[in-house]
Amino acid sequence: MRILVTGGAGYIGGFTARRLTAKGHTVLVYDNLTAGHRTNIPADQLVVGDLKDIDHLDHLLVVHRIDSVLHFAASASVGESVTHPAKYYQNNLLNSLNLLERVRRHAIPRFVFSSTAAVYGTPETIPLTEDHPLKPVNPYGQTKLAFEAMLADYSAAYGLSATALRYFNAAGASVDAAFGEAHDPETHLIPLVLFAALGKRPKIDIFGTDYETPDGTCIRDYVHVEDLAEAHVLALEQQPAGKLVTYNVGSGTGNSVREVIRTCEEISGKTIVVNEAPRRAGDPSVLVASADKLKRELGWSPKFPDLRSIVETAWDWHRKG
Ligand code: UDP
Repeated sequence: MRILVTGGAGYIGGFTARRLTAKGHTVLVYDNLTAGHRTNIPADQLVVGDLKDIDHLDHLLVVHRIDSVLHFAASASVGESVTHPAKYYQNNLLNSLNLLERVRRHAIPRFVFSSTAAVYGTPETIPLTEDHPLKPVNPYGQTKLAFEAMLADYSAAYGLSATALRYFNAAGASVDAAFGEAHDPETHLIPLVLFAALGKRPKIDIFGTDYETPDGTCIRDYVHVEDLAEAHVLALEQQPAGKLVTYNVGSGTGNSVREVIRTCEEISGKTIVVNEAPRRAGDPSVLVASADKLKRELGWSPKFPDLRSIVETAWDWHRKG
């Protein structure tokens, strides 16, 4: 396939672009580099550009004879989405609609979208299955859910084959420690805890210790970025025609913030200073996936099944500097 990967210089997009390339697909990355890194992608695969630039998109889709679009480009911090919702509606909804319109006008048949567990909101049942009610509790989840609705309507009306992958918490690095998670500013738990282990930060804040969970801290489902990347390859290669399908992508195991910190301490051999801070706005207490549908329908099986194996790769990458 000839695939445009928006946001492919970012963390999950970069892992997926490399995996698709390794499987023999032709990959072109479109990224404005506000969050992505040039070094994530070979120079001859990268086009620097913005989703607002419709003429540029038109040109690329035609010249490169693109037949599939994987859409990662987005703003992706829950906390920031609460304080700066305008940025999220612009980047995640309006810019995504620009792209979808170009896909429709050029009759590109396949689309895979980076959605999120945040579309569910506060879980009524755990683990979350794809048919759980969709009631996001933060603007990040709202924007992703709204775009899923657009995809469903475009599929029904225009015959687009679309897949929405609802990510749980992506983490980890490549086993050779060549690629890993590097956001600026970093807001995600595992890298911040490892920064504290490395002495790059004095401590880690725990956002909320009074949740209704066994140790009072939030529980999340951490999934290795390589396993997440593989889910995209499977979704694209086995995509049903002319409709929207959704899959959770998570390990199926929940770990609390305190468990993450303990695991990082064990793997790094360092003591990490903890500060018990107030809750962060927009955080549900527990998010754990059922990935049964992904396993059953696409044959997905995670190669990094537990938190330990995920943190080990992240630690090797972070300590390399
Ligand atoms: N978290 C925390 N301290 C931090 C960063 C995150 O306690 O410095 C918590 C956060 O409240 C959430 C979990 O760690 O419960 C995972 O947060 P992250 O931002 O990594 O991912 P999210 O779940 O928001 O996608």
